[in-house]
Amino acid sequence: MTIQAISNHPKLGTLELVLDGGASRTLTHAALRDGCRCADCTALRRAGTPLQADGAIRLLAIEAVGAYGVQLVFSDRHDRGIYPWIYLEQLSNSGTALP
Ligand SMILES: [Zn+2]
Repeated sequence: MTIQAISNHPKLGTLELVLDGGASRTLTHAALRDGCRCADCTALRRAGTPLQADGAIRLLAIEAVGAYGVQLVFSDRHDRGIYPWIYLEQLSNSGTALP
């Protein structure tokens, strides 16, 4: 499975991953925010107090990080999370994806 394209849907609060073969998976912005792996968010998770974004959070911007993945900017001003393509694939397979 390889991500061919991503499509942000701010009104729905979802990010659609278009896979090779034309299938797609959908992740909520809140699930993406919860899944941030920056140092701060990782520390909170290790401390047992992970951030739990509410459904109103929105993904405001998507910045390419070379061919490696994307950096996501959220409406809570958090912009430190780098999301490699492989990690987005893992998230979409982890049960956080919408049916
Ligand atoms: Zn973070």
